[in-house]
Amino acid sequence: MPMQLPPPLPPGATIGILGGGQLGRMLVLAAARLGYRAIVFSPEANAPAAQVTNGTIIAAYDDERALARFAAESNVVTYEFENIPFATAAAVADRALVRPSPEVLAICQDRNREKAFLARVGVPVTANIPIADAADLVAAVGQIGRPAVLKSARFGYDGKGQVRIDDTTDLAGAWAELQSAAGTGSGPAGILEAWVDFALEISVIVARSVHGETKAFVPVQNIHEHHILKRTIAPAPIAAPVAAAALDLAHAIARGMGLIGVMAIEMFVGHDGRLLVNELAPRPHNSGHWTIDACPTSQFEQCVRAITGLPLGSTAPFADAVMDNLLGAEADDWLRIAAEPGARLHLYGKDSIRPGRKMGHVTRLTARGASENGA
Ligand code: AMP
Repeated sequence: MPMQLPPPLPPGATIGILGGGQLGRMLVLAAARLGYRAIVFSPEANAPAAQVTNGTIIAAYDDERALARFAAESNVVTYEFENIPFATAAAVADRALVRPSPEVLAICQDRNREKAFLARVGVPVTANIPIADAADLVAAVGQIGRPAVLKSARFGYDGKGQVRIDDTTDLAGAWAELQSAAGTGSGPAGILEAWVDFALEISVIVARSVHGETKAFVPVQNIHEHHILKRTIAPAPIAAPVAAAALDLAHAIARGMGLIGVMAIEMFVGHDGRLLVNELAPRPHNSGHWTIDACPTSQFEQCVRAITGLPLGSTAPFADAVMDNLLGAEADDWLRIAAEPGARLHLYGKDSIRPGRKMGHVTRLTARGASENGA
């Protein structure tokens, strides 16, 4: 007899979103399109996501009463960034469905756990060693060699909490520098990784539904400036077998993790086409924003579909796309971009501009395959 599948949440149900940034904002908009309500939990009033929903709880992540109210009002809860405290997700999970599960969050919050998980499911990663103190670092550099990169195990993003170890780097100094950036948590605070001389960086966004169905978007190329994503090119200019291998890895990771939701998987492509997985994010991702304008189902709608139990939507792009982030004062150009024929402008409603802050993005489409980058 076929297994009984849980029925999907009906339109009108409420999706709780932990975090109020632009990813939450675009999730709310996608949820609304499918008739769902959204409630946003954010420590910040007037956060980008809070502006587009009337269900908002403004409270600290350790405010247990506010979390209980949030859980009570939500039919399913997700998060829009992975650095929310684990205890927050766990407290909500005691009272409501949390998707992806707090266990997935715990893996993705800690680079050492993430690497251990990837090794367990047979996914190739750069050589790495957990680092608990300065003596560990000396020993690990002896093993891995230079250049290498020392990263904080937790709470690193946009290149924060990373120190490159080259021929002249003083290791005691590197450890001290990392410690000032490192977040606290259980397990070693750092990780040393071999430096990878990659040809390009790509990512794959994969979804897995309540029913175990997985679907991925085409691999895209990501170009960073000062460690912050600047441009995403879809599809990535890689050979078809490399793209197929990247997709295989993404599906295997989503299954191995028991993911319910979407996950971004960042990878390095070697000069020989070999892939190494660098990082996982269990949520929609900046490198998937192009899907709003170039695919039948965006990464945000896919996330909503996955966590509510709807069938996953088509990920086949109907156009090639280039997505540029509008960082800091680049967003001052909004009027010129708004006047540009075909440019899809997205602004996040942030009230103050800071250098490097993600204020919005613009996606430009071209005919499929016109750039001959087809993966
Ligand atoms: P991450 O926070 O791990 O995503 O790292 C931010 C960026 O630093 C990556 O997108 C790469 O450009 C670079 N990076 C991180 N790890 C390595 C590595 N092991 N070798 C070379 N570059 C790296």
